[in-house]
Amino acid sequence: MVQVLIVGAGYGGVMAARRLERANYPFTLINKHSYHQFITWLHEAAGGRNDINDYKMELREILPRETTTLIKDEVTGIDREARKVVGRRDSYSYDYVILALGSAPEYFGIEGLAQNSLLLRSVDTAQAIREHIEKQFAAYPGDPRDERLCIVIGGAGLTGIELIGELTDWLPKLCARYKIDRDKPRIINLEAAPSILPVLPSALQQKAREVLEKKGAQLRTGAKIVRVDPGHVHLESGEDIVSETIIWTGGVRAHPALAQAGFTCDPRGRAKVNPYLQSVDDDHVYIIGDCASFQSGNRPLPPTAQLATQMGWVAGGNVAAQIKGQPLAEFVPKILGTLASLGREVGVGSVGSVQTSGIVAGVAKELTKVKYLYQLGGLKMVRRGSKALTRERV
Ligand code: NAD
Repeated sequence: MVQVLIVGAGYGGVMAARRLERANYPFTLINKHSYHQFITWLHEAAGGRNDINDYKMELREILPRETTTLIKDEVTGIDREARKVVGRRDSYSYDYVILALGSAPEYFGIEGLAQNSLLLRSVDTAQAIREHIEKQFAAYPGDPRDERLCIVIGGAGLTGIELIGELTDWLPKLCARYKIDRDKPRIINLEAAPSILPVLPSALQQKAREVLEKKGAQLRTGAKIVRVDPGHVHLESGEDIVSETIIWTGGVRAHPALAQAGFTCDPRGRAKVNPYLQSVDDDHVYIIGDCASFQSGNRPLPPTAQLATQMGWVAGGNVAAQIKGQPLAEFVPKILGTLASLGREVGVGSVGSVQTSGIVAGVAKELTKVKYLYQLGGLKMVRRGSKALTRERV
């Protein structure tokens, strides 16, 4: 029997697995956790919306076939010569592998940043942010230091901006709970570039800025973080901002295992793939999602969930076709738009050529969740997931 492995159960890995189940092909999926995480909704989890467990789903629910083997292990390396992936608990042989290992935080070598900041990357880190902020608010009445209520977010990409939107809605509720003056908390966003949300057109950048500033956030552009000490963020200008909550959303690079295994990589550590999503170094290795450097025009595609999902579907189909000796499908990316939520009700973004903001964009963003749940498992999954995701806990 030809041994097919999928490594990683993020957006790309899970969709590749769904496609292989659809093709009736047995395979093994190895993932660090027994569950799939809704990474693109984590700002909600960090910002106090809903139960934290609503942002994950057991893999067995998504991949019910008995022929599908699920292994919980963290893969740390790839032995290309031996055709094995190496995990913390064991190593696993393959004839074909789909590498969907996701990304790692990009710290750009900034001193003290990794040691002294929180990240928004998983259900666990979202929970850590949520608990940390709540602890600061709970402690403030007995120890009223302003830095307890000052939240600094480094980076104004989609991750940072969506988190700010969520926090601006949550903090007033925390103020009410702990009897703190609503004007006391501060959210300061520090962005090195001249504008926020560089992926969106300038009219939408401006709209997002207006909405978030109206909700009380400070958005500072041209503010480059150069060093972080415990409780202190240092800017290139020499300014020192004192804060007990420093969150880094300044960018991602590919999982380090790809470069370590000697795949041909781009400067962000993503392994180069051909039009069929095979590694340019080995046609038995498919690489998808944030790990893949897929050339589109004169630059690689961005690392988004939307594209990872599409790549997973194509890679799963191509593995099944390659085993059967059938022609492979070329990957044709479809960028349907980019939507950013700015809190529980409003958003900004573009869908096709249409630019949208306010409640319409907020609703469109909610609909992307429904669409994804449907892709995961039809109406059953929409009912299971959307019920949980529309509930508000706080
Ligand atoms: P990003 O790379 O898009 O944004 C990081 C920001 O941090 C940049 O604007 C950068 O200028 C800034 N930055 C870097 N170094 C800095 C420094 N020293 N000081 C201050 N600012 C600094 O990262 P992201 O927001 O985590 O997004 C990663 C990928 O995930 C992107 O491709 C994004 O499109 C995607 N994403 C999409 C969605 C969505 O579709 N809603 C949501 C989240 C992430």
